Amino acid sequence: MLRPRSSNQETSTSVTNDMPFATAQSAPLHFFAADVSAFDGHVRQWGWPAFRAGQVRDWVYNKLISDPSAMTNLSKLDRQRLTERVIFDRSTIAARQESSDGTEKLLLTWPNGANAETVMIPDGPRNTACVSSQVGCPVGCKFCASGLNGVKGNLSADQIVEQIFRLNQLLQPSGRRITNIVFMGMGEPLANYANVMAAVRIIHDPQCFNIGARKITISTVGVPSRMRELAEEELPLNLAISLHAPTEKLRRQLIPWAEHFALDDILDAARYYFDKTGREITLEYILLSGVNDQPEHARQLAKLCKTLRANVNLIRYNEVQGLPFTRPRAEDVVRFQDALREAGVNAHVRKSRGRDISAACGQLRREQVKAAEETEAGALAGVALPVIA
Ligand code: SF4
Repeated sequence: MLRPRSSNQETSTSVTNDMPFATAQSAPLHFFAADVSAFDGHVRQWGWPAFRAGQVRDWVYNKLISDPSAMTNLSKLDRQRLTERVIFDRSTIAARQESSDGTEKLLLTWPNGANAETVMIPDGPRNTACVSSQVGCPVGCKFCASGLNGVKGNLSADQIVEQIFRLNQLLQPSGRRITNIVFMGMGEPLANYANVMAAVRIIHDPQCFNIGARKITISTVGVPSRMRELAEEELPLNLAISLHAPTEKLRRQLIPWAEHFALDDILDAARYYFDKTGREITLEYILLSGVNDQPEHARQLAKLCKTLRANVNLIRYNEVQGLPFTRPRAEDVVRFQDALREAGVNAHVRKSRGRDISAACGQLRREQVKAAEETEAGALAGVALPVIA
């Protein structure tokens, strides 16, 4: 049932995690879903010496080896036991695209039918992973490929962590590693809060991928109760809000989900996040030609920015086949940025990456699903599940 939209009415239980795929963490043990203390506990239960857990983590997180038979500092018997008791990576790479600018995109599929796009974006010393949190997306932004077919389920914590593992394997031959994470792939991360936070803690742990909280960004369309919960996590994560419109009216036209959460409540929660964490909020703003990129929109956005400590990331739209939105001209983007800066707003234009590989989120998966539907009479098709209970 959809709850009526009103100030501060949605509760911490209003965004459900009870969706397909999220239950995939039951026995046997899924390595990427186990944090350090959980895996240490299992190792103790098995009667192994405590250091054995660290050895296994070293193979997986540092050497990127997930096949127990290759873990040569374990006895043959222990390798066999590990094979019997633990499931490591389970995804297969269904598609891989590489852009001329070095951006790489993978479509991963899991035995339970879940699939997700994950992207590696190199930028100087930085290698950013753009990870997915759900299969499809419930938010349904009118300009985005991910939301076109609704959401089919949550990704489990191990499926989220495994995206980083796969991207690190991709980078391994060049000696590089994922240094930054953005939850800006498919899905609304705050609608899959428990799994996303479990994954974040594993990714962040010095004994796992050891990626600092300040290098991890959670991007949300705005779920006030979850934003407040995130503020209490005692992790200085970056919070980005996908704003895309400076007024409630235009926002609702572009983002169907926006009708469930008032913009004022989202901004209140953003202020709370800043007060609790000291982390400045990022407002993501995709510029759509003739839709939200006019001088009046820049003025409205500047006014909104005066009400909170935020910087603005302007993103020049990447067209999606079949959708009616177009990419603004470069000079219009500069004009919009200048108007914000003249009004005292810290505004940046994000570089377009991977344009030649359909890098806008959801496009690769959509192409694959479409192909599967054409050949298998919709074997991968699903229904949009309710997100708000
Ligand atoms: Fe979902 Fe983000 Fe796409 Fe909107 S832009 S439908 S929030 S994945």
